[in-house]
Amino acid sequence: MASVMKKRILTGIQPSGRPHIGNYFGMMKQVVDMQEEYEVLPFIVDYHALSTVRDRTQMQENILNVAIDFLAIGLDTKKAILFQQSRVSAHTELGWILNCIATMPFLMRAHAFKDAQEAKKKEITVGLFDYPILMAADILLYDTDIVPVGKDQQQHLEMARDLAEKFNRIYGETFKLPKALIKEDVAVVPGLDGKKMSKSYGNTIPLFATRAEIEKAVMSIVTDSGGVENDGKPENVYAIHRLFKSEEELAPMYEEHKGKYGDLKKLLVEDIDAFIAPMRERRAEIANDIDKVKDVLNNGANIARELADAKMQLVRDRLGVTL
Ligand code: ATP
Ligand code: MG
Repeated sequence: MASVMKKRILTGIQPSGRPHIGNYFGMMKQVVDMQEEYEVLPFIVDYHALSTVRDRTQMQENILNVAIDFLAIGLDTKKAILFQQSRVSAHTELGWILNCIATMPFLMRAHAFKDAQEAKKKEITVGLFDYPILMAADILLYDTDIVPVGKDQQQHLEMARDLAEKFNRIYGETFKLPKALIKEDVAVVPGLDGKKMSKSYGNTIPLFATRAEIEKAVMSIVTDSGGVENDGKPENVYAIHRLFKSEEELAPMYEEHKGKYGDLKKLLVEDIDAFIAPMRERRAEIANDIDKVKDVLNNGANIARELADAKMQLVRDRLGVTL
């Protein structure tokens, strides 16, 4: 009964590479922190990732890696429902239905599409263009209350609300309007190059990086943006450092090593490594039993499918396709 009363949290992550510290602080940690109080449904949006991952083995590896990372950071599968989007066909089905009420100009405003255009991406697929629709379907299917995300997803969340409102206006009250939960202090974790850290930009510090990988990544953080930097404080290094230590702890450190970027980077390596180290062992154990991870995903898919199918019955009824 208790779970009926709980508000529902749902949020997706693309299996487009190894989860990084931006994903962790921006979204994954929130899910784990809220799993006691809320009903949480973190899911792996493999169909979204089709627009970037076109290698079968890579896709399989990425899906498992995301699942393992989630379990290793403490997701409790007795409470949380972890699943793959592709295992619940209602996502794409509702996506199509929403396609039929969304307009082209509405979608042309989406950041994902505009960014791809600005970057003069060679191939902008219909799937990329349509991304916010599938994302709206993902969320609306489950009567989601709250969606914890990074700032980059704020607009897509607003689009999901707009589509829910439009559908409700046309067909009658059907979908709950979801709310984004964006933690300001971790809304956009910067990558090694100062742009948003993204799996697909190759500018990440993987959440479960080895010590050697952390060293390599941190040493390549861009510190000289061509001008006088903030009082001897390398902005990008500091922006990442403050995820791991409080401003009070960092102030004396940055004062002592003012202008010595190499020293500050070494200190950052230590702090990231100290943070990840205790979770590494747990991850290795989980990764040793892939069948168990697959069981978790199967179980999650079964529960999610039931929830989604019930919603779809109502949706089809509203549309008038059920006789
Ligand atoms: P991709 O490059 O494939 O889009 P990504 O790193 O942007 O990968 P997503 O799977 O798109 O990751 O996003 C998963 C979640 O992590 C989303 O809620 C997103 O808002 C959040 N997120 C992604 N990058 C960051 C970041 N740099 N800072 C804070 N949150 C982030
Ligand atoms: Mg992204």
